[in-house]
Amino acid sequence: MTTLTQPELLQWLREENPPALQELYAHADAVRQRYVGDAVHLRGLIEVSSHCERQCMYCGLRRANESLERYRMTREEILDCARQAVKLGYGTVVMQAGEDQALTAEWIAELVRWIKRETPLAVTLSLGERSDDELQMWREAGANRYLLRFETSDPKLFRTIHPERRAGDPDRLMLLRRLKELGYEAGGGVMVGIPGQRYESLAQDLLTFRALDLDMIGIGPYIPHPKTPLGTGQLKPQLEGGEQVPNSEQMVYKMVALARMVCPDANIPSTTALATINKANGRKQGLQVGANVVMPNLTPVKYRALYQIYPAKACIEESATDCSQCLCGQIESLGRFTGRGSGGRGHAEMDGRTLAGAAAPLVQLQVPNYAIG
Ligand code: SAM
Ligand code: SF4
Repeated sequence: MTTLTQPELLQWLREENPPALQELYAHADAVRQRYVGDAVHLRGLIEVSSHCERQCMYCGLRRANESLERYRMTREEILDCARQAVKLGYGTVVMQAGEDQALTAEWIAELVRWIKRETPLAVTLSLGERSDDELQMWREAGANRYLLRFETSDPKLFRTIHPERRAGDPDRLMLLRRLKELGYEAGGGVMVGIPGQRYESLAQDLLTFRALDLDMIGIGPYIPHPKTPLGTGQLKPQLEGGEQVPNSEQMVYKMVALARMVCPDANIPSTTALATINKANGRKQGLQVGANVVMPNLTPVKYRALYQIYPAKACIEESATDCSQCLCGQIESLGRFTGRGSGGRGHAEMDGRTLAGAAAPLVQLQVPNYAIG
């Protein structure tokens, strides 16, 4: 594991010199190859409900967005998606939704039990901040992983953009610790370029990934949604002395590369949000700067456009089969291959080809002395 310090992380986050950045990306790619190999794991994403009780200031699914037509998938529709995941050779399904209490604990547990009984799939849940009893029940039903991004490690900014449901509810960092205790593989992550986000806070995000020992780390650009207070500019979080981080592609690549260096064996997706801001190459470039996972969409096409977290989301018209073919083609064009099995953290050695680069010594990356301090 690299021991990059907070000032070094900060220096890399501010780095703009192209040759220095190429060096950073090449190093992160070598760390990726050494620790998790050349396999790219596919996680089939099922967006099970667009109903949400929360009022996150950035997200198009927030309750107050009345212009959005809402849907909730039926049990049969979800099971069909899981069957399709098996046919397409995926190792995992990710069930994601807004915070929707109509997805009751028992209903989700039953789905998880069915998928675990009838398929070899790993099950990841991403259903928001749910109660301890629910998280325990789903783990006992067989759920393997839980994704809950903490969005930013700046507590004040987080509360400004993510209002509490009830005073005193556990925050997302506490929930991530709890998920690990319950035996889940825990996935956190952040948005890059949130209004009011400073470089120092991104450096702190990276240190938080390391401190939490996250199994999965999702990093994507913040994309303004015109029906949200943050997207319209109605809400303008104060910077308080620092410099605003851009929500640029380059900034996301830097974060992905540095996340790979601070958490070398974590599973890191090249996110849909990245593919949204660069439809031609975003996903591929993410895979070249440290990512080792992609999340093809399995949601039935009739629902895709309705799960509108942010505008112009990538891959909302392609069928599940098209998505799979497109992604597999991109992976092969990079000289990589699609991973087999569930691709949990620490399972890279299951495939002989994955750790081909493991023996090669890694040259220590120096923070360039022409970096902006
Ligand atoms: N409701 C669950 C939750 O909040 O964890 C899962 C669904 S939520 C839509 C998944 C992720 O979408 C969030 O964690 C957030 O990082 C991302 N997201 C929401 N709005 C976004 C935006 N405007 N730009 C980029 N990412 C966004
Ligand atoms: Fe709901 Fe999640 Fe969107 Fe917040 S980020 S409004 S919890 S779907």
